[in-house]
Amino acid sequence: MKECFNEDNLWGIDFGGTKIEGVILHSAKKPEVIFRFRVKTESHLGYEHILDQFSKLFNTMKEKAGYEPMVIGVGSPGTYIPQKNEMKNCNATVVNGKPFKDDLERKLGIEVILANDANCFALAETKIGIVQELYPAADVVFGVILGTGVGGGVVVRGEIINGKHGIGGEWGHNFLEEGGDSCYCGKSGCNEQVFSGPALERFYHRISGKKKTMQEISLLAESGIDPHAQQTMDRLIHSFGKALSVVVNVIDPDVIVLGGGVSNIKQIYSDSLKTLNQMVFNRSFDAPLVKAKLGDSAGVFGAALLVGKEKSVYEEN
Ligand SMILES: [Zn+2]
Repeated sequence: MKECFNEDNLWGIDFGGTKIEGVILHSAKKPEVIFRFRVKTESHLGYEHILDQFSKLFNTMKEKAGYEPMVIGVGSPGTYIPQKNEMKNCNATVVNGKPFKDDLERKLGIEVILANDANCFALAETKIGIVQELYPAADVVFGVILGTGVGGGVVVRGEIINGKHGIGGEWGHNFLEEGGDSCYCGKSGCNEQVFSGPALERFYHRISGKKKTMQEISLLAESGIDPHAQQTMDRLIHSFGKALSVVVNVIDPDVIVLGGGVSNIKQIYSDSLKTLNQMVFNRSFDAPLVKAKLGDSAGVFGAALLVGKEKSVYEEN
C-alpha cells in the first residue's frame, strides 16, 4: 500500500533474542504495515548496548516517518513487574533486574507500553490474525506459544489481561508435574519443563538414549516404528490437554490459538482436545483450537497494537 505516515500510525518494537524489530502500522482501524526495520540485539555486548540498539532502530523509524509518535508499544520476553519497576525472567538475562521500561522511555524520549511477547502474540492473532479472520466475535481468547518455551496470553474483548503484577497469562510456569525438571524461573515441573520442544526432546533422549528434534520425533511416531517417539507424543498430547483444562475451567475461552514450532504438529489439534474434554468441568468443551497465522510477525504486530487502545483514548478526548 502507499506509505501514509501520520499521527494515526501505530508504532511497535519487538525485542527478540537475535533481533530487535520495529514496525509502523497504518492505523488501529487499518492495521497494515507501512514500514518495517530490524537491528541485531547483540545482548552479549550488555544492557546499555541493547538500549543503544533500540535507539538506533527508533531513529531510523523516525527518519522514515518524518515525525515522532507520542507512544510506542514494546513486546519483550520475560515479565515487567510494575511494583518493583524491573524485568524478570527475560532470556536476554542482562535485562533482568533492570528498570527496562524507564530506561527505554529515557532513551527513546517517549512513553513506552511494555508487554510480554506471548501477550503481544495473543493480541495480534486476536485483532488481525486467525481469530479476526475466523471468529471475529470472540470475546475471550487464550493464545499459546509452544516452541523453545511455553507462553500464554489472555485477551478479553480486545485487551490483554496483564494483571496487577504483570504476570497475567504466565501459563508456561503453571505447575504440572511432581518431581519434574527444574525451571529457570526458580521452580520445577512447570508446563514449560514438560511440553516445550526442548523438554520433549530431553524426555525422548532419556527413554531412548537417542537425540532427535521434535520434528523428527513426530515423524517417527507417525510412521509407527518407534515406540519411544510415540511415548513422547503421548506425553505432549496428554500434558498439553491437561494443562489447558486448567485455563478452560477458569476463563472458558471462545478460541484457543496456538503458535510456535511445536504447534506445527497436527495431532495436537485433535488429540489434545480429547484429553481436555475428559478433564474440563462440563466435559464437552467445543471451542476451537486453531493454528496461528501471523508467524514470527505476531510479536511486532502485537507490540504496535498495544498502542491502539491509547490511540482510541486520545481520539475520544
Ligand atoms: Zn518455570
